[in-house]
Amino acid sequence: MGESIRLKKDEVHSNYGGEDTYDLLIIGAGISGLATGLMWVKNTEGKKTLLLEKNSYPGGYSTAYVREGYVFETTQLFPDIVDILEYLGLEMNLKRYEGDFMRRIVVHGDEVDEYHIPTGPEHFAEYLAKLFPGEADKIRKLIDYAVSMFSQVRKLKVIPTFRDKLITPLKAPKVVANLNRTYASFLDKFGITNPELREVMETFTSFSGVPSARASSILAIGAMLTSMTRCFRPYGFYDEFPAKMALLFQELQGEIRFNAEVEKIIVEDGKAVGVRVKGDDGMIQAQAPSHENACCPSLPAEIRAWALWRHDERDSGCGSSAQPDIQ
Ligand SMILES: Cc1cc2nc3c(=O)[nH]c(=O)nc-3n(C[C@H](O)[C@H](O)[C@H](O)COP(=O)(O)OP(=O)(O)OC[C@H]3O[C@@H](n4cnc5c(N)ncnc54)[C@H](O)[C@@H]3O)c2cc1C
Repeated sequence: MGESIRLKKDEVHSNYGGEDTYDLLIIGAGISGLATGLMWVKNTEGKKTLLLEKNSYPGGYSTAYVREGYVFETTQLFPDIVDILEYLGLEMNLKRYEGDFMRRIVVHGDEVDEYHIPTGPEHFAEYLAKLFPGEADKIRKLIDYAVSMFSQVRKLKVIPTFRDKLITPLKAPKVVANLNRTYASFLDKFGITNPELREVMETFTSFSGVPSARASSILAIGAMLTSMTRCFRPYGFYDEFPAKMALLFQELQGEIRFNAEVEKIIVEDGKAVGVRVKGDDGMIQAQAPSHENACCPSLPAEIRAWALWRHDERDSGCGSSAQPDIQ
């Protein structure tokens, strides 16, 4: 491969208008920040939205880069994102993985165990039951429960109304019951104590670099089931997805400022009111929303996008986690 390779992410440039007040500020143009931004601009009108990204390109961990004429990709597969692509109107040329779509290699000293993870949760359950016959019942119970819980996740709305929130416990009781459960505790709940079996089942947290004792069970199950249902790789490189998200966000009037590291989130009276970007003199403010449905998209806490805007007490249920200092 020649050095002349041009990655899609290099086609995305800042379109920051330089203003100091926005309706919504999002920190980080990784997949979470881009998804938050796209959902927001698609579901609101006339809102001024700014994505602040410390790197010079979008994508965060989901990216590709060129070194000495070779392209390296940080991502191995896209889970089942087809509905989302259709919803967003993003066109991606995807190649579907068939059969065993993932290998898990576990190294114990000089010994190496290799597991071939098949597509389809029922095949995965049978594969594990064959490898760990003494645990077969627990495995089947866990997978059945996970499939049922995930079908409930799919019924939830990204931006729920007050009524949607009220009926969530009825519509998605398993989701509610496991909302604050880590994936490690989810495995405990089904009595999965065999360390080798746990290691295979933890594939879906370890591939994102998060220990199972810190990963949300719902997020891990989502990663597991969406990738088992249908998973893909692009015909191009993995940076194409965030690059296309960023270009669409800009087309829908969203602004992105690259090389903009947020060093402080400014909080007044318990509310995030703006941010300070490294090297800037002043702060960029987040305006009060006038849109009555403006509320925090219900993204799991592990998804590290920080959406900031003033909101009244009624909306104060939406949390934001932050790496930059909070002043
Ligand atoms: C090795 C590895 C392999 C993976 N493989 C897969 C896979 O095959 N399939 C899959 O679906 N998932 C995979 N994942 C998980 C996936 O990459 C992550 O879940 C996803 O990229 C997280 O996106 P994010 O936007 O939440 O965070 P990030 O990708 O971390 O994005 C955060 C963004 O915020 C920016 N930022 C941070 N702090 C600031 C600041 N103060 N100011 C401004 N900008 C800031 C960062 O530069 C970054 O662009 C993998 C993860 C790892 C580590």
